[in-house]
Amino acid sequence: MGDRGPEGGLFAYSELCPPSPFPLVFSGGIGQSGCLPCTPLAIRCLITAGPTREFFDPVRFVSNPSTGKMGFAIAAAAKAAGWTVDLVSGPVALPEPAGVMLYPVVTADEMLRQTDALFGPCDVLIMTAAVSDWRPKVMHPQKLKKDGTGLTVEFEPVPDILATLAQRRRPDQLLVGFAAETENVEANALAKLDRKGIDLVAANSVAGPDGAFGNELNRLILLGHDGFRHALGPATKAVVAEQLIAALIARLAAPTR
Ligand code: C5P
Repeated sequence: MGDRGPEGGLFAYSELCPPSPFPLVFSGGIGQSGCLPCTPLAIRCLITAGPTREFFDPVRFVSNPSTGKMGFAIAAAAKAAGWTVDLVSGPVALPEPAGVMLYPVVTADEMLRQTDALFGPCDVLIMTAAVSDWRPKVMHPQKLKKDGTGLTVEFEPVPDILATLAQRRRPDQLLVGFAAETENVEANALAKLDRKGIDLVAANSVAGPDGAFGNELNRLILLGHDGFRHALGPATKAVVAEQLIAALIARLAAPTR
């Protein structure tokens, strides 16, 4: 099957996408402070980023405005901390962070298969991807013709990638989810800890013009079990990413998670 790349061109993908073969330059740097504590142990980190697309005909899909900036910044910060980084990303228009293995995907199903393949050896999973929660029930093989009337598309839920992976997690893995919320940000985020079986959730407001989607600045509240609460930012996404990785390094060193 062919699919559309970030710019709308067709590209072919295999069952599991190989790492990008291109020589890559990351122009964004890793943030303002430029200093992250190096993790004493070799940490392998799996990060998801960007939106997914769910097609109902070969040229039309449902998605969301995620740009992938936060996930890519986290990947760069994790790499700067000395971690080995696998980055699974939906369609975005960003340069690949240097030294990171990038696995491009398009749909939620592809993201699930790719993260599932990489999850076993990972120590830290950070799911920043804005997975499209529903997909059209029917994918029409040919472009639908306009006939001047409306169109009704029936949707079904996509698999919850984070919850699926968490079901077969090892206790020593650290699982971090993101919660993009437009209201009751912290309460809604906290509910995901148990529902998804994860250790930490980064609560992220996506409401209004200051919301996280596409913005250069971000602010996260990192929440855990037993009242753990840690504010990150407001700052550029690169700096917030550094702060997040520093918080995770502290967490990995803590006796309980
Ligand atoms: O369920 P909700 O979308 O609010 O949860 C957000 C978190 O769950 C994010 O970490 C997101 O990447 C992840 N997620 C997922 N699979 C889905 C939907 C969300 O892994 N289908």
